[in-house]
Amino acid sequence: MSALFPTYNRWNISIESAEGTTVIDQNGKKYLDFISGIAVCNLGHRHPAVQKALEEQLNKVWHVSNLFQIDLQEEVAAQLTEKSSGDYVFFCNSGAEANEAAIKIARKYTGKSKIITFKQSFHGRTFATMSATGQEKIQQGYGDLLPTFEYVPYNDAAALEQAVDENTAAVMLEVIQGEGGVNPGTASFLEKVQSLCKQHKLLLIVDEIQTGIGRTGKPFAYQHFALDPDIITAAKGLGNGFPVGAMIGKEHLKDTFSPGSHGTTFGGNMLAMAAAKATLSEIFNDSFLQEVEEKGNYLLKQLQEKLASCPLVEEVRGKGLMVGISCKEDVVSLISTFQEKGLLIVIAGPKVLRLLPPLTVTKEELDQAASILVEEILLKNKKGLATS
Ligand SMILES: *Cc1c(COP(=O)(O)O)cnc(C)c1O
Repeated sequence: MSALFPTYNRWNISIESAEGTTVIDQNGKKYLDFISGIAVCNLGHRHPAVQKALEEQLNKVWHVSNLFQIDLQEEVAAQLTEKSSGDYVFFCNSGAEANEAAIKIARKYTGKSKIITFKQSFHGRTFATMSATGQEKIQQGYGDLLPTFEYVPYNDAAALEQAVDENTAAVMLEVIQGEGGVNPGTASFLEKVQSLCKQHKLLLIVDEIQTGIGRTGKPFAYQHFALDPDIITAAKGLGNGFPVGAMIGKEHLKDTFSPGSHGTTFGGNMLAMAAAKATLSEIFNDSFLQEVEEKGNYLLKQLQEKLASCPLVEEVRGKGLMVGISCKEDVVSLISTFQEKGLLIVIAGPKVLRLLPPLTVTKEELDQAASILVEEILLKNKKGLATS
């Protein structure tokens, strides 16, 4: 019996304690958590620095309102703008809200309303962000969407160029499509998008909600490429488990969000800011990020080598600690098999196994997870062949 709307398909696992990469369920069973709350707990569960910052803030003040000066917001905004192409930050509480702010500011600044996004993209579940999302299954049943979004195939710069018209305000993309299957944008595509934006004076909005906050080995994933976005959105990993989102924009956008033009009660809440400040202090430094990149390469190589000759596996891809194992068949049933073996992962569409370990994961934990993954994928491959 449950009094919850059944919006989620839930597993029969209830996590009762958690630390680092390890979580323990209601039966005392231990798991390696390669989900991290879906790219949220990037420093692992209950990271001591974030926990301490939250505990200290709990004893000072929790929430006032944006009618007041809030120094912590200034400090987190400085951290975000120092490590990105942006100059100003608007704080909110989730990814969808960050994208909502991005869509609003892009339309108001340009006076135009069309925003080009991509097939298989995911930008959120509010009306504007659902409309921005290039997946029909997310939009079905809700009636008229917010108009003037156009979805073009990802990694297809020619299709993008075709879609640009005089009413186009912006292009919005994920550098690696997360929910859509861990699909990386190619350098040539992304850099062509940038040049088209410059040429046609379109704003470039990069949705870094899943790829940001160190996930790929850079503060933001666009920094692997020659990109200079006007707007960056962040959320998920920003508070290491405390809900917080941010829309980061360039100088020229400043006056578009004038007093009274946009807002939210909880945005930049002091507890959220304390968590974000501590999280960014840990993640936004070169040696930490270099380790993320190294561990990511180590995991990717290991999986690529060991699964190279497995017919079930199409490709192992990703960047940093955002890795997808793309298969030729539906592999949803493997999720519960991995759970039995003590490994938690999620899918990104029925054919892609997605790995999002905490960025603090150890090489031993990567080895353990890789051995479970490889063993069970090879077994599934063998069984599949036996029955066909
Ligand atoms: C999760 C996600 C969102 C939505 O964030 P919420 O906090 O769930 O609203 C938007 N864009 C991307 C790329 C995401 O991964």
